[in-house]
Amino acid sequence: MIDKNCVFCRICGGQIPSSKVYEDEKMLVFKDIEPKAKVHLLAIPKDHFKLLSEMDCERAETLKYMLTKIPEIAKENGLENGYRLIINQGDDAGQTVFHLHIHILGGETLPW
Ligand code: AMP
Ligand code: ZN
Repeated sequence: MIDKNCVFCRICGGQIPSSKVYEDEKMLVFKDIEPKAKVHLLAIPKDHFKLLSEMDCERAETLKYMLTKIPEIAKENGLENGYRLIINQGDDAGQTVFHLHIHILGGETLPW
């Protein structure tokens, strides 16, 4: 499913430019526009869904696939020394884009 008003769906569709580092039929990884670490990537499923709390078995399969791919993508992007994955769920976490995404942070020693 695609939401034409969603910024990350529009990045998937190429209507909004992004710095892509990896793409296949299920997922896209691109550079965060406001990096919070020396390396800050966002991994998204191409299928739109808003929140981790909307997870179901089919979406969980995609998430599993993404988690399987992320280590090799991280390595290709200079994160051999480690990285942190974050999923923000909802307002208290400060989620601002409502299309599920995994933050991949690294390239330096991260605070906390
Ligand atoms: P979150 O707070 O978890 O919803 O994170 C959303 C992230 O998306 C933030 O780190 C933003 O900097 C990033 N972001 C928003 N718009 C874009 C964009 N057009 N290209 C790349 N990253 C974006
Ligand atoms: Zn979307």
